[in-house]
Amino acid sequence: METAATGVPSRLARFASGLRAYARRALDVALPPLCPACRDLVTDRGVCPSCWSKLAFIAPPYCPRLGIPFVYDPGPGILSMQAIADPPAYQRARAAVRYDDVARQLAHAFKYSDRLDLAPMIGRWMARAGHELLDGADALVPVPLHWRRLWARRFNQSAALAESVARESGVAVAHHALKRVKATAQQVGLSRKDRAANVQGAFRVPPDAKAEVAGRRLVLIDDVLTSGATSDACARALLHAGAAQVDVLVFARVVDAGKGPI
Ligand SMILES: [Zn+2]
Repeated sequence: METAATGVPSRLARFASGLRAYARRALDVALPPLCPACRDLVTDRGVCPSCWSKLAFIAPPYCPRLGIPFVYDPGPGILSMQAIADPPAYQRARAAVRYDDVARQLAHAFKYSDRLDLAPMIGRWMARAGHELLDGADALVPVPLHWRRLWARRFNQSAALAESVARESGVAVAHHALKRVKATAQQVGLSRKDRAANVQGAFRVPPDAKAEVAGRRLVLIDDVLTSGATSDACARALLHAGAAQVDVLVFARVVDAGKGPI
């Protein structure tokens, strides 16, 4: 009796696990891996060779402050015009790639199409691009979503990227260091000035997170940096709560072709 009684659940468990394995195989046949950018078939879960060749990875020389690539090397320590004319609250920004067609499709697939499987790959690229920032950093702070948007989208893409960067770098994620206290309109389509106004006062360090922030060197994590208004508002809130330094690491940044180096 006893054997039969214990045998039933184990047979059931075997059946259930067999069913799950079958469902996984069926899903692989039904949904073969697609390039997240152009949706061509790929042999493994990644970017196809054609899209890979179009991704513009950012490498030196770039502005040591903003990470904006320079066309030629102006020498060590020379800042871009933007960094001098309009210095941000954060110390340094770095991005893995330029925000162009392929990067936009990747960021979009990651954010809206539940391609969370892209996080490890993007996190690796970010960790490489941000190694100077991650060396000596105390914690990673993902740019938070307002709870209503988080509820609608079910996950925060910045938090998922922060987890991947944490795995690569060993720097821990302070998930609750920053809170979005204002539901802001989407930044898409807004002017630079309106973007800054839109996110002003939108972020705050909750009282119980002050200890995670005060006196610490933090790296803010986001998917895309456009005008830098969101990162700037986050950095202001963290510095206001006593952060020693705030740097910014993103997957992709907009590089204004019209604005050359110095
Ligand atoms: Zn592709």
